[in-house]
Amino acid sequence: MANPFRLPMALRALRNLVSRPATRRYPAEVRARFPGVRGVVELDLDSCVFCGLCARRCPSAALTVSREQGSFAIEHLRCIGCGACLDACNKHSLRWAAQAPRVYSREEAGAEGEAAAGRQAWKKPAAA
Ligand code: SF4
Ligand code: SF4
Repeated sequence: MANPFRLPMALRALRNLVSRPATRRYPAEVRARFPGVRGVVELDLDSCVFCGLCARRCPSAALTVSREQGSFAIEHLRCIGCGACLDACNKHSLRWAAQAPRVYSREEAGAEGEAAAGRQAWKKPAAA
């Protein structure tokens, strides 16, 4: 029996002309991440006490925490998405971000990833 899915090429071309594209125009169009998918670490600044436990557990030294300055920073280009920092945080201040990371060009990231393009930092507001 003939396979109904084996359309002649002309019919297939016509169908492709009127159907939606199968791919997105990334990075112009970024798909929202599914809940809980590993990827980009995000900080809840309000609950963080800057204890530094997450930074000590990070196997790729992607985190920098300063209790004195009330600051937290992550080098996204170093992070391997292992989740050790999320597990270490007793305050549940870390979570996986809902947005996918953007792609960095070699000019932005540097040949060895040494540029600051992938760095994100949070700082506790100064007391009034
Ligand atoms: S994110 Fe959690 S473990 Fe890391 S410094 Fe803040 S409170 Fe401590
Ligand atoms: S997910 Fe892993 S590599 Fe990334 S910052 Fe957390 S501990 Fe470090």
